[in-house]
Amino acid sequence: MSTKLQLVYSSGQIAASVGTLAQRIGYDYAGEELVLVVVLKGALFFAADLARQIGVPLRLEFIKLSSYKGTSSTGTVTVTKGLDGSIAGKHVLVVEDIVDTGLTLKFLLGYLNDLGVRSLKVCTLLDKSGRREVSITPDYVGIPCENKFLVGYGLDVDERYRELPAIYEYIP
Ligand code: 5GP
Repeated sequence: MSTKLQLVYSSGQIAASVGTLAQRIGYDYAGEELVLVVVLKGALFFAADLARQIGVPLRLEFIKLSSYKGTSSTGTVTVTKGLDGSIAGKHVLVVEDIVDTGLTLKFLLGYLNDLGVRSLKVCTLLDKSGRREVSITPDYVGIPCENKFLVGYGLDVDERYRELPAIYEYIP
C-alpha cells in the first residue's frame, strides 16, 4: 500500500491558532524581556510565525534534542545542540511543535531549570494530552489533538514533509 497524507489542520487554522497564542503570550509578558527556546527542528516554522507576532522584545535560542526515532519514541532524551547564550535570570518560554508522552519536555524543563532561569513556561502548537506518560501540562496550547501521527508545518517522518504549510495525518 502507498503512503497517504490526510489533511487535519489547514494553514488557515494553524495561522489562527498561532495568532491567538501570540496575543496571549504578548499580554502575559508585557513589559518583560523574553527568551524563546525553540526546540529544533520541528518547532522551526511555528516559532518563526509566533515570534513575529508576540510584540514584546525577545531573544531566540535554539536547542536540539534527540528522543524520537521514526514513528515511535525511544524514551531517552539527549541534547544534541545546546544553547548559544546564557538564559540565567531570564523569563524563558519553550516553543515546542508537539507534546506527546511528555518525556522530551520533562527532560528539557529539568535541563533549563538547572541553568537558573527566572521563569520557565511552555508553549506548544499541538498537544496530544491523551498520550501523556508523565504529568506535564504546557502553559500555552495551540491545538489539542487526537492520537494521530502528524506531519507538516515542521513535523517530519525521517526528515520528510516538514515544509508542508498544513498539518496532515501520516498513514503509512
Ligand atoms: P514526547 O517526548 O512528548 O513523547 O515526544 C515529543 C516529540 O516527539 C515531539 O517534539 C516530536 O518531535 C515527536 N512527535 C510526537 N508526536 C509526533 C507526531 O504526531 N508527529 C511527528 N512528526 N512527531 C511527533
